[in-house]
Amino acid sequence: MKYDIITLFPEIIKSYCSQSITKRGIEKGIISVNTHNPRDFSKDKHKKVDDTPYGGGEGMVLTCQPIFDCYNSIKKIETKEKYEFIMLSPQGEKFNQNIAKTLAKKEQIVFLCGHYEGFDERIRLALKPREISIGDYVLTGGELACLVLIDSISRNIKDYLGKDKSAHNDSFSDGLNGLLEYPQYTKPREYLGFKVPDVLLNGNHKEIEEYRRQESIKRTKTRRPDLLN
Ligand code: SAM
Repeated sequence: MKYDIITLFPEIIKSYCSQSITKRGIEKGIISVNTHNPRDFSKDKHKKVDDTPYGGGEGMVLTCQPIFDCYNSIKKIETKEKYEFIMLSPQGEKFNQNIAKTLAKKEQIVFLCGHYEGFDERIRLALKPREISIGDYVLTGGELACLVLIDSISRNIKDYLGKDKSAHNDSFSDGLNGLLEYPQYTKPREYLGFKVPDVLLNGNHKEIEEYRRQESIKRTKTRRPDLLN
């Protein structure tokens, strides 16, 4: 998977991607992460990328020219079904695991991160991105949202988590029929008086599977009953 990110703050992206599983995914060649800064494309002599809004109001709006030129400079793959262009926006469709899974089948995703008051509307009208929100709250910029998407999409790419691990049994996954994950325990057997349930220690895989299934249903019922439908 090739991720291309249009951002005024590439260091935020680079810093996150230089750690943990994302770093390993890049080293293994399963994903690549490239940043593109609209400021490098600004034709303004001060490299300005924003301006005041027509009609008045607070804040600055990202201008068209640097973003159009930056977007056009990115080499895109030919196969349309394998390509996606996403604008991070609090006004977009709400992100979830199903979208992450579908996007994991693409070969290239270009992300457009906003900042300040957001984008000149003509960017949306002309470039026709898919708009995605990570929730009903407003962030200062699209970088955090972009990283949320990259992380959750990548987890659904084959071998990204390592050959012996998969996202198949995580909350919301097919392995759990879209429910929340059951509680997990590790050593020691007892901590602060809390004991590991006996069933997890008896080695009977059928019983363990059934216990986990029931716990998963119980947990979903109390925390996210909407998922049971
Ligand atoms: N004025 C815009 C509005 O009210 O819809 C909000 C602009 S926000 C301060 C700046 C940028 O942060 C947005 O252009 C977007 O890229 C990103 N952003 C903020 N909240 C987001 C969210 N919930 N999901 C995805 N991106 C978000």
